[in-house]
Amino acid sequence: MITRFAPSPTGPLHLGHAYSALYAHDMARAAGGTFLLRIEDIDQSRARPEWESQIYDDLAWLGLAWPTPVMRQSDRLPTYAAALDTLWTRGLLYPCSCNRRDILAAASAPQEGAAMGPDGIIYPGTCRGRPRTGPRPQDTALRLDMRKSLQAVNSKTFYGMSPKHMLDDIGDVVLCRRDMGTSYHLSVVIDDAAQQITDVVRGADLHEATPIHVLLQHLLQIPTPAYHHHRLIRDDAGKRLAKRDDARAIATYRADGATPADIRRMVGLPLSSG
Ligand code: GLU
Repeated sequence: MITRFAPSPTGPLHLGHAYSALYAHDMARAAGGTFLLRIEDIDQSRARPEWESQIYDDLAWLGLAWPTPVMRQSDRLPTYAAALDTLWTRGLLYPCSCNRRDILAAASAPQEGAAMGPDGIIYPGTCRGRPRTGPRPQDTALRLDMRKSLQAVNSKTFYGMSPKHMLDDIGDVVLCRRDMGTSYHLSVVIDDAAQQITDVVRGADLHEATPIHVLLQHLLQIPTPAYHHHRLIRDDAGKRLAKRDDARAIATYRADGATPADIRRMVGLPLSSG
């Protein structure tokens, strides 16, 4: 078994991250497997070296250990580009220059709300007819043509989702963001495969993105790991913890004198990790 924790260094780790990391770590430990860490820093406008150092520091303090060197997504842009080239050559991507306002205007009839998918408003297809020939365009976003992609694979269900639901409830997601040269969805599936992750442990908030990941695994002919989506840690008001909730940051608890055992107790995990 190989599990992983894949944080983005865009803010302090909070209790929810601690839960995810400890859960993935304990699961690998109990099976005599390996726990890996991966830094998901494709959003270079938000990633900061100091957050990355804080991640290493907090996780080590929690009692976790992982093999080094740690995989960092910012080192892997050529690998993502190669996958985009493959999908482009197969005619499964198209360039899109719509901004949020364009999408909203095209998606919603007056008085009606626009349908929402895992990445926000479901794309109405404005740019779908743009040319897909020639070399892959740079400096523009690329969307996955959901209908063509579903036709290109044999599977009829994607993490329990039917092709019809993939079309209606997910649609043409962005696989290459203009400012990043990749996207969360593309990078996460390529790296889980590259690191031979057998079991992905992550929060229930990513449950609805998983059918996209399974479809991409079919398209790229890489294995689908087992997915374990755990409950989300909420604050006293029942709200999901966010990066900006500094009050729940591991570093804040540490500074207040909490121990790693206290953190395990707070998130409801057993003290002995097996
Ligand atoms: N980097 C993602 C995040 O911090 C997690 C990705 C995943 O576990 O699939 O939200």
